[in-house]
Amino acid sequence: MLLVELTPDDPLRRFRTNAYPFLMGLARLLGAQASWCALGVRFQPTLRYRLEPADLKLLLCELRRCRSDVVIINERLDDDQWARLGAACRGGHLAYCSLGETFPNLGAFVRTALPAADPAVLEDPRLLDRIEPDFRRRVLNQAPWAADPVMRLSDGVPCAYRRPLAQNPFYRGLSLPPGAMGCAFCGTMMVHERMPVADPLAFLLKQVRAACRLPAGKERLFEVQGSGVWTRLDSFLAELLRLGLRRAQFCFAPRVDELLAARRVLERRLPALARRELSLRFYTMGVENFSAAENQRLNKGLTARQVHEAVDFVCAMTARWPRAFRFSKGDMSMILFTPWTTLADLRINIRHIRRCAWIDPPAALGKRLQLFKGRPITLLAQRDGLVVKKGDDHFYNSGCMPGFDQGEVPWRFARPEVAVLYRFARRISADGGIPSDDAESRAITEFLISRDHHTPQLLALFEEAVKALERRPRTDSVAGLLKLLRSTPLPARAGLIV
Ligand code: SF4
Repeated sequence: MLLVELTPDDPLRRFRTNAYPFLMGLARLLGAQASWCALGVRFQPTLRYRLEPADLKLLLCELRRCRSDVVIINERLDDDQWARLGAACRGGHLAYCSLGETFPNLGAFVRTALPAADPAVLEDPRLLDRIEPDFRRRVLNQAPWAADPVMRLSDGVPCAYRRPLAQNPFYRGLSLPPGAMGCAFCGTMMVHERMPVADPLAFLLKQVRAACRLPAGKERLFEVQGSGVWTRLDSFLAELLRLGLRRAQFCFAPRVDELLAARRVLERRLPALARRELSLRFYTMGVENFSAAENQRLNKGLTARQVHEAVDFVCAMTARWPRAFRFSKGDMSMILFTPWTTLADLRINIRHIRRCAWIDPPAALGKRLQLFKGRPITLLAQRDGLVVKKGDDHFYNSGCMPGFDQGEVPWRFARPEVAVLYRFARRISADGGIPSDDAESRAITEFLISRDHHTPQLLALFEEAVKALERRPRTDSVAGLLKLLRSTPLPARAGLIV
């Protein structure tokens, strides 16, 4: 069995390889041979990759060299390259790895790929506890971001946030999936079951120990997925120290309330972690939305006050432990626009974003909700008549689409003036999905050039646009909005700095 990992240059967009160390270990349990190779690639938002000719050649050579019966790959290639890989695969079995972050169906997946595998091993309810994970991989090309691999670890608990949707007044009367809980937009709430392991902490530490058997570069990089670790953080950190580990970075994506609850433990453990050159890095902590109404509709279960408290803590810790506690601007994520957004919601968000040092306005401004089939928020949009047949903007991937085949359910804004604002915000934001020949982008660029040095920073410019639409809510196009902005006297704009 050969495992192929396409490693994109965006560290947050590395999907479907969590199970690879376990597939490697499972092959050993089954008496089969397995190897894992990685190719650094540029991130493709569509999640349909086309390899550079030199990389394709390297991969085809590897396939021929390994003579594997089964080749498993974590991303989809275009049809032509997929067919070429299939033809180069000795057993002709080329499989797309459908195993997500929790891989509860590991046994079933392997049975399909390797029909001859011993069913007694695959059906063992303690399978994950029996497997010794193996992180060895060979990087085939020279892509620098693939050279120092991030070891992705699963803590066995996909998400511990369980607020029931049935108790949320927005969802009253909706026919929800049984037991629907957690954030209304998130797929994790659909698979909230804990992974079948005896002790999630022991399961996580087993992975750390296995990864540490490999030679390290300057610093070992780990990404811990799941929220089980946040309920036993003190024990986890104590174990890291007991293992004698040095020079390693552990990345986490906790909820804001999980981070708040862990403040004391972090403060107490950081001095010892710093002495060992161990660091904790936090990323994609979801604020989602500062408007209480929007936040409740998303069933996020956070308040603006909690977010600011967490930011204060992060500021204090990064100032005191700049190496051991790492957080960067942009590491807090937002869903700024939803089908229900009002101008008042946007005003609230502007006020809080301005106060929040760790939100990056160029990133936040372009962010909108993505709807996926069957999720509670999608059912709500359907009920409110906001789901449409076809979207009217360019392809968008907020990062919530880990699979090439995960089609987005298109929606419309309830308020046309907010639709105009979103088109404007997306085009002034850091969103990379707008093609260079987009007419609205060109008009916005011309407008910004015409303003020259009078152009305020992005958040202030966006605020100006919100105010313009408050005055003229019937404006129905970006061109109309630009006309309004042009007619705003410059002195009124002078103080608009973030
Ligand atoms: S967005 Fe995060 S907190 Fe919310 S359900 Fe998903 S994993 Fe849990």
